[in-house]
Amino acid sequence: MNEYLKHDEWCIIEEGFTPENHRSSESIFSLGNGNMGQRAMFEEQYSGETLQGTYIAGVYYPDKTRVGWWKNGYPEYFAKVLNAPNWIGIDVKINGEMLDLAKCEVSEFIRTLNMKEGVLERSFVATMSNGNKVKIEAKRFLSIVTSEVGVIRYSVTALNFDGKISFNSYIDADVKNEDSNYDEKFWDILNTKSMTGEAYITARTKKLDFHVCMNMRYKVLKNGQDVTATADIIEKEKYVANTVEFSVEQGDELSFYKYVSVLSSLNHNKTEISGNAAKVSAAAFEKGYGALLEEHVAAWAEKWTISDIVIEGDVAAQQAIRFNIFQLNQTYTGEDERLNIGPKGFTGEKYGGSTYWDTEAYCVPFYLSTSRPEVTRNLLIYRHKQLQKAIENAEKLGFTNGAALYPMVTMNGEECHNEWEITFEEIHRNGAIAFAIYNYIRHTDDKAYLAEYGLDVLVGISRFWSQRITYSEAKKKYVMLGVTGPNEYENNVNNNWYTNTIACWCMSYTQEAFKHVKESNPARYEEIIKNLNFDFETETARWNDILENMHFPVDEETGVFMQQDGFMDKEQLMASDLDPQFRPINQFWSWDRILRSCFIKQADVLQGVYLFEENYDMETIKKNYNFYEPRTLHESSLSPCIHSILASKIGDIDSAYEMYLRTSRLDLDDYNREAHEGLHITSMAGTWMSIVEGFGGMRVVNGQLSLKPLIPEKWQSYSFKVLFRGNLLNIYVSAEEVGVINEEGDDISIFIKDDEYKIEKSSSLVIEN
Ligand code: BGC
Repeated sequence: MNEYLKHDEWCIIEEGFTPENHRSSESIFSLGNGNMGQRAMFEEQYSGETLQGTYIAGVYYPDKTRVGWWKNGYPEYFAKVLNAPNWIGIDVKINGEMLDLAKCEVSEFIRTLNMKEGVLERSFVATMSNGNKVKIEAKRFLSIVTSEVGVIRYSVTALNFDGKISFNSYIDADVKNEDSNYDEKFWDILNTKSMTGEAYITARTKKLDFHVCMNMRYKVLKNGQDVTATADIIEKEKYVANTVEFSVEQGDELSFYKYVSVLSSLNHNKTEISGNAAKVSAAAFEKGYGALLEEHVAAWAEKWTISDIVIEGDVAAQQAIRFNIFQLNQTYTGEDERLNIGPKGFTGEKYGGSTYWDTEAYCVPFYLSTSRPEVTRNLLIYRHKQLQKAIENAEKLGFTNGAALYPMVTMNGEECHNEWEITFEEIHRNGAIAFAIYNYIRHTDDKAYLAEYGLDVLVGISRFWSQRITYSEAKKKYVMLGVTGPNEYENNVNNNWYTNTIACWCMSYTQEAFKHVKESNPARYEEIIKNLNFDFETETARWNDILENMHFPVDEETGVFMQQDGFMDKEQLMASDLDPQFRPINQFWSWDRILRSCFIKQADVLQGVYLFEENYDMETIKKNYNFYEPRTLHESSLSPCIHSILASKIGDIDSAYEMYLRTSRLDLDDYNREAHEGLHITSMAGTWMSIVEGFGGMRVVNGQLSLKPLIPEKWQSYSFKVLFRGNLLNIYVSAEEVGVINEEGDDISIFIKDDEYKIEKSSSLVIEN
């Protein structure tokens, strides 16, 4: 752990500059607006340890795979989110000396991420080696209104001298990815231009030919009044800049306003991109800093109106949940069905910015409740668009007849992961994609989605399971051999209970989906059957035979669902038996030792118990929770939230709260000492789930919303909003009361602790808790 940030309800605050924390802070204070994002690097030069990261949604690079021992079926490349040209740079010279926090004396340093407004601020006093003292106040934001625009206000006040201050504002395309497999740079430059007051660079990726143009303009104010200076124009092969110098007297404040447009060929014709970038930055310049900031703050206020969770009585928990919600809203805004959510969002290079099962299993519930249905629908359509590639992926592994295996890691639908035990075996991801369709429909009631897109995907996935599952003569049961479950500390196991469970569920739900489409849209039903060449009788007969005769490992003695065949043969140790100094075990133990141990990386059986909770009685849920929780190390950020939800479910509120805190402050308190690599964006949605589904007990049951609220002892109250089938409900929970305001939509009936209540439109309900 590394707790160096101040607790505050709306802001993340770092006081004092500690270079050792800077890389972590660059991640934690990251900004994003769905279209682009950026680590919290300094605008001015910094020669200390830093990870420069500027990312543009959907712009990636297929870096040639690096692997020790090649196996057939491995992908040729690993798609990476690209570190794009750096547009924030402003070198500052004080009487000729370069401002660099690694080289001057720094005092009064405060870095603030204002989550309410979506703004990054920083202020400090620097004493240069020549004794000149300056106060710096920097503020920047990536507009969520005009998502191709980023703006910086950088002010320098001369505290103890008269002299010269210069700003060199630049765009630098000579950047690289820290994780480049062969130490290559990924950008070629198409054109650069620097003029007085304006400069731009158009760059293209060496592979795939994505074009990006960044255009900057600026303005300088001295003590609030416009000032101009003749600019030095700099234009190099990969770099453009303007340098302007001003005389100051002690007490003068110079404010440099930098307006940058960032456009990509995802949204612009390549021949027009530089012209469009010039127009966008000119419009931003015209509108001005104040107006841009105002509309940005107003748009954030609107986002918060629905997605905020208010916790009274626990500042650490309040700050943490807002941080999680803020980062999710910065990462994905849901307008573009080509985009998805990388596990690190725009905050680092790890995981390559690619799409994982995290999206469906964790992020979908968050976006379903806090955004309009189109946002989640776009996440589902993203996978629908990649169906053909998923079919090709399955074909590469030897499957036929339209069976689809979605990749573990992908950008464009092709598999990017190259560890056999994950690429070929961690196939449960297919189930999460099917489950997300069900979850979306259960929440929004948009059943038409099945006929339009959903059924095609469900059939591909079910066909895969049907071929992947084989019949064991010895067991006289169907089995699924050689898989990796969500718990990646076991590979190549037989009959992972979770994978078997979700596979069977898929084959059953696909049949329900067929039934629905046949009844509601017979013409489309016929069309789908024909397009997919679906032999209904034969294919579903096999599915049903599997459903009736699937093997699920269970411990005879206790009735606990076994994670896989033979799990009880392992030496049964508990997480508490481990010496904390040798954790996480993946950093200290050989892989062999990990595989032979009973220790569980992340929720596995419990992931299934969570998803299919309605199939199990309370005793079964408790039994499984009590068995698996002590053996689970939670060495994936995706894990504690699921356990927290189940702990709430079985009434163990203290454990639920402890795990909530761990998941919600994972990055803020740097539990695993890895914040410097980027944030755990996808597990942040799990944090939201721990409150809403965990403490709030929110479920959708037979098409109705149901709550079973609990409250951690430390909290006075908490409240959250949920968009559900056209209603916006505001739910408030304290130890004494549960309140629901029906803010938008018609009358609604919901369940609270198993009793049904009708809440008329625009009215509210308060009952005893
Ligand atoms: C987890 C996976 C997850 C991935 C990306 C891994 O450590 O085990 O379940 O998909 O991280 O978040």
